[in-house]
Amino acid sequence: MKNNLLLDTMRIQTESYKSHRMETFIKKKVKTMGLDYTTDKYGNIYVAKGDADLYPTMVCHIDTVHTINNNVQLVKIDDKLLAIDRTNCQRYGIGGDDKVGVYITLSLLQYYDNFKAVFFKDEEVGCKGSSQADFSFFSDSNVVLECDRRGIGDFVTSISGIKLSDDIFQESISSILTKYNRKCCAGGITDVGEIAEKTNVQVANMSCGYYDPHSDNEYIVVSEVEATKQMCIEIFDKVNQDGLRYEINGNRISYTPAVYGGFGYGRGYDYYDDFYYGEDVGTSQSTVDVNRQPVGTCKLDTICPNCGAHEVWYEEYDDVCFCMSCQTSVEIDYDDFIVDEKHMETIPIDDLYEVEDKIIDTVNQEFNGNCWYDDNDNKLKKL
Ligand SMILES: [Zn+2]
Ligand SMILES: [Zn+2]
Repeated sequence: MKNNLLLDTMRIQTESYKSHRMETFIKKKVKTMGLDYTTDKYGNIYVAKGDADLYPTMVCHIDTVHTINNNVQLVKIDDKLLAIDRTNCQRYGIGGDDKVGVYITLSLLQYYDNFKAVFFKDEEVGCKGSSQADFSFFSDSNVVLECDRRGIGDFVTSISGIKLSDDIFQESISSILTKYNRKCCAGGITDVGEIAEKTNVQVANMSCGYYDPHSDNEYIVVSEVEATKQMCIEIFDKVNQDGLRYEINGNRISYTPAVYGGFGYGRGYDYYDDFYYGEDVGTSQSTVDVNRQPVGTCKLDTICPNCGAHEVWYEEYDDVCFCMSCQTSVEIDYDDFIVDEKHMETIPIDDLYEVEDKIIDTVNQEFNGNCWYDDNDNKLKKL
């Protein structure tokens, strides 16, 4: 295999909070290109190349979920690259999430005369690096791309209800997306989501040819990595040609049912695990199994101040409330209203020491002991 940069990048062992090897690798590569880098107080690495009014910009994360393992060996099978632990010959996650992103970012930094790149630390433990970024770095970016998604078909245009890009940008690159067979969709948390929250520049995340991330079986498909790199070049070329900075003006919040699991006919998007279930769904999905509890969310026992529907849900990860009926975010203190069972302890009858004996008798007679104590309204309820 001739692509040494890809192999070199995939060989580096890196882990959340232990990414020093990857940091050194990136800093050396940047120096080899004759460029300088800066770091912020968290240790994220920034590179600005050339002299332009606007810069195509790419970001990636340099940690992986896999524990550093010095016995890992890369194995190439046809178009696939995977890793095994040579001591026990077991598969080991190759860390394409997000070393593929690192590889594409380094490649494009080399390719373009004018380019900006950021290598973020500790994405896998809650976007720790990118949430503390120097966001002024993106003030002259024309658009910010990230390659940090499994598979090959997705172009992510919203993350947990935050709009990453608008119709004008998506329209401008639609023939490229069609050529590379990408569909616009909602996606999981990653660094460009942080940039979208803190700046007005348009951003995107996309599939980049890694599979089974966060597992020992993780592998990459080399031709898909290369196709994604090529697609990024075409997108940046188009944006450079458009000659403007793509910004989101106005409200960036744009909740779609997809983010929350959606409603409908057994199809939808699982926000926490970042995958689609049921049939293929795009940005306009209004579909999901009604019987399925949305992941990482709970229903609140209150009505929506906007539409009056009893459909207000709290989303733990982003700490926001949202009405499923009118599809708007709602300002409510969730602590006052949580009624979802998973936030209630089921207390065995014997432990109900605070409850009067006569209540316990009633419980035993009426419910055969199958009840739980709801300390919100101080009542026993049937299981
Ligand atoms: Zn990732
Ligand atoms: Zn990941």
